[in-house]
Amino acid sequence: MGIIILTSIAFIISVILVVLDILLNKRRTKAEKILTYLPGYNCGACGYGSCSGMAGALTLDKNVYSKCRFLKGEMLEQLKEYLN
Ligand code: SF4
Repeated sequence: MGIIILTSIAFIISVILVVLDILLNKRRTKAEKILTYLPGYNCGACGYGSCSGMAGALTLDKNVYSKCRFLKGEMLEQLKEYLN
């Protein structure tokens, strides 16, 4: 009986870890794509430390792009189009 309980717990934990891994990789992939739309100065002026930090923040809140003062013109339009 004990082995069945342990196996069941191990199976449930495995499923949870697989789901978490899928969700985190999906977010990471999206952040990598968003990064291609950012200026790439890594100045930290947005408050996220780098363009990678900003890209990660944009996966959670698509309105934070306004914190980057260098996002303008066509670059800004392309980012907005991707986010929407
Ligand atoms: S302010 Fe813009 S260019 Fe500077 S790190 Fe943030 S996203 Fe990159």
